[in-house]
Amino acid sequence: MAIGLASIASPAPRLPHDVVDAASANDPRREPVRYWLTITLAVSTPLAATFAEPVEPTPTVTGGLMALHAPEAQAGPCIQPSERAAALHAADAASMLLGLDAAGSSLGADTRFPFYPQAGNLYSDIFHNNYVDLDPSSGILDWACEDHTYNGHLGHDSDLRTFSEQRIGVPVFAALPGVVVGVADGNFDERTSLTPAPANYVILDHSALDPGLRTLYWHLKNGSIAVALGESVEPGQQLGLTASSGFSSGPHLHFETQRNGLVFETMSGLCSPTNSSWATQWSKRREHYLRDFGFVRGVISGSYAPPTPFPRSRFTTNADSSISYWIQGHNLPRGSNWRMRFIRPSGALEFDTGARSFGFSTADFRSYWAWFNWNVPAMRSVFGEWTVEIDINAETAVVAKVTTAPSSTTPPNRPPYAVSGAFDPSEPADDDVIFFRLDADLVHDDPEYDVVSYRYQWFLDGAPIRDIVSAAHADAIPPLATFGGGAELVVRVTPSDADANGATTETTLSLGPTPCTAADFAEPYGIVDIADVVTFLQRFGAADPSADLAAPQGTIDIADVVAFLQLFGAGCA
Ligand SMILES: [Zn+2]
Repeated sequence: MAIGLASIASPAPRLPHDVVDAASANDPRREPVRYWLTITLAVSTPLAATFAEPVEPTPTVTGGLMALHAPEAQAGPCIQPSERAAALHAADAASMLLGLDAAGSSLGADTRFPFYPQAGNLYSDIFHNNYVDLDPSSGILDWACEDHTYNGHLGHDSDLRTFSEQRIGVPVFAALPGVVVGVADGNFDERTSLTPAPANYVILDHSALDPGLRTLYWHLKNGSIAVALGESVEPGQQLGLTASSGFSSGPHLHFETQRNGLVFETMSGLCSPTNSSWATQWSKRREHYLRDFGFVRGVISGSYAPPTPFPRSRFTTNADSSISYWIQGHNLPRGSNWRMRFIRPSGALEFDTGARSFGFSTADFRSYWAWFNWNVPAMRSVFGEWTVEIDINAETAVVAKVTTAPSSTTPPNRPPYAVSGAFDPSEPADDDVIFFRLDADLVHDDPEYDVVSYRYQWFLDGAPIRDIVSAAHADAIPPLATFGGGAELVVRVTPSDADANGATTETTLSLGPTPCTAADFAEPYGIVDIADVVTFLQRFGAADPSADLAAPQGTIDIADVVAFLQLFGAGCA
């Protein structure tokens, strides 16, 4: 075996974002350093006899890790100071004209944000990359005394995978009820560099709820702004779509919170010793995970990088002398290794790369992508469904089915896998924004590893209330009270790979009052009244197990009548 290490170059010139410098990993105030590693491994491995194919008595397997890159998505100040000043100045003027009581006391303010205002699941299909920089100096410090921010950052950045997801659409929602006091649209939204450009955005005033409270939503998609200046909005109402307009190098939402013009961090932690501003504060995800996978016929060029959509193929043929397998992931610790296995349609192992180092020992990657170019000769002669497995640090992260076929044929495309999901919260109150969150797998979402979109159709008592195609693994609707309430909420989710729809799954949530105590036997639920007495007596008479309210269990007797009367007397409270 011969391994040639062509070049390693790191660190690259400093950029205001991203990767950890291990030499100062214990210093939370260090400057972030962005590494750019370029590694070329050339491996030529004569196969053992057990791997030999009769038609190819001396096959060779060549390939290796071609590149490992830190991301450069959404680095930079996010909002240019000049744009920020102009936008807030205009918002002040709008607030005055709208008669909003924009100033207030921060004392005792205890507003809690019930959800993160973006479609998708945090640290899953959307990645929470940056928080507020709490270090007033040139250092960086996030709420947890770590470096998940960059110098001078004033909000939360939650990023999409690539422009593929942006183009399908990832909604941004109003976090709380409010009034639109700032809005901009019409600006280019696939920016990839940190240079001045105007953004599309929305600014909401929440002073009716919490005097002086504002929220900012930046970098939105051109033409997606769904609200107008002065408009009142409901929580969970769609404001626009996630994109990369303005000072931005990749699609993300910049969500910012201000009270009386001062930015505050909503997370509570060692370096942000306040109450959390979230009804339920999340944890940072720290373990390695993959956010996407795919393969492409041919060799990926070394200049390729997100947020450019990853190249994808649906199958390979005997004409493909090399296939590139790529991964996009998070939380890759220093010293990590990878391993790939190529398994024939018969289930027989064709080639195992063994564990190989990524080749870096001093950097942790919060976000990364890598690709592996491989030429496995048997894949050009043994047709069918191969299995390509990728391990990261001995954990299997990808079990990919890769269809190989003669170049004269085109294997049929298959639809994405069906998904299921759950309502969040599971038992919503009338004033709760309701999310529906999918359990879709980030890697194994489509048999050909296509980009998958999801159509969410929401119905309240049979009437459609929202219908949207989204790339996000979650969607939301405003509180039921804004629809006048209802008894049954239904959401249908249909995945699509642009050429074929997967199976639609339908999930139903029964709403309305539920029994408030064990004595609340009959409708209307939520109160105990004579109807409950009648129903209890009927069930008592019928020796129905539901009337068995007291010990001894299994016997319907006078003790159950006493228990019922006690519960009845106590009422619903
Ligand atoms: Zn930002």
